[in-house]
Amino acid sequence: MAEADSVAVIGLGRFGSSLALELMASGTEVLGIDANEEVVQDHNARLTQVVRADATKEEVLRQLAIDEFDRAVVAIGHDIKASILVASLLLQLKVPVIWAKALDEQHGRILEQLGVQHVVYPEKDMGRRVAHLVRGAAADYLELEPGFAIIKTGVPSELHGRPLGETDLRQRHGVTVAAHRRPQGSWKTADNSTVLGVKETILVIGQTREVEAFAQLR
Ligand code: ATP
Repeated sequence: MAEADSVAVIGLGRFGSSLALELMASGTEVLGIDANEEVVQDHNARLTQVVRADATKEEVLRQLAIDEFDRAVVAIGHDIKASILVASLLLQLKVPVIWAKALDEQHGRILEQLGVQHVVYPEKDMGRRVAHLVRGAAADYLELEPGFAIIKTGVPSELHGRPLGETDLRQRHGVTVAAHRRPQGSWKTADNSTVLGVKETILVIGQTREVEAFAQLR
């Protein structure tokens, strides 16, 4: 099944499962591997292929032709030894692109030192994201890079009813409206001629500090 854009997901806990199902929903073929029979049964017919196996064993990965996948995700967290072993086997088998979930900085550092290109920290990143939601007024928040973010928010009164190009938004608030959506409508990209209505939702990008301040406007 290892077609160009297929992905092997190793470990189908909450993170691996949600990642694998989202990949399926967006049309990507997914091989899921988990050592737990119940977990495997739960994913049967929901992923392209699901296999019950211990992924720390080299022969298992070879039998599954993991080396033919362009991308693999190590979604084992709490068993750090298993996570590291699997990552090192994937590197040894020359899987070109490897993503791995790390529980903390130490775990992440070891994965990076091994040569894993993409290390993610789901708990830490989600905690930081929720902190911004709790603190601010945005309906959704995503920090793209430290200090630079995109938020989803309502339209403050100063932007109602006139083209965005005439609002001096960038000069006054340092942010850019990237897209807008009417209630029950679909997202459209915004430009200088876009006129925003009172009930619309907008996506705003800019420095974290500035987008957060912008979300406070009413
Ligand atoms: P989450 O927070 O995403 O639920 P977690 O961080 O608690 O997961 P673990 O419970 O360590 O991570 O592992 C996630 C999944 O990986 C589990 O379903 C577990 O059965 C599976 N797993 C753990 N070790 C192996 C292994 N050696 N081979 C295959 N699957 C494994």
